[in-house]
Amino acid sequence: TGETAPLACENGSPSAGVTPEVTEGPYFTANSPERVSLYEEGMAGTKLVITGYVYTTDCKPVANALLDFWQADSNGVYDNTGYTLRGHQFTDANGRYELTTVVPGIYPGRTEHIHVKVQSPNGKLITSQLFFPGSTQNDSDGIFDQTLLLAIQESSGGLQGQFNFVVPVP
Ligand code: FE
Repeated sequence: TGETAPLACENGSPSAGVTPEVTEGPYFTANSPERVSLYEEGMAGTKLVITGYVYTTDCKPVANALLDFWQADSNGVYDNTGYTLRGHQFTDANGRYELTTVVPGIYPGRTEHIHVKVQSPNGKLITSQLFFPGSTQNDSDGIFDQTLLLAIQESSGGLQGQFNFVVPVP
């Protein structure tokens, strides 16, 4: 496709480090619905579309990798009784995913972040978080990891984010 070169494996790089694992936190809910859009009509916040690929450490795209996302709403509140802003999907045959959502708000002690679990078929489950460049709270958040920063661009109607995951070879 016309996608840009994968950041984690660009320039013919033969290998890449596994996406860092960070804490799951207290708000994961199992059995999220399968869907590529967490956005719902009328939802508050800045619309955000994140695209990217899942690669193995030897830079091969992973088809059918699981990606399970969950996040706070634009006010920093999680839905802990239902599945608002929670959903899982699988990468396509090229290892690509696309998530439509909103920019999460901050809550006490944390900078903006989106939680994610990623797993190649029969591979190790990686629990991580994605972060936003330029957030003033990043420096004071002990969980923040700059290797987990989204690449963000403004687009019509919101923001476009890009992030590639790297998982161990199963
Ligand atoms: Fe969180």
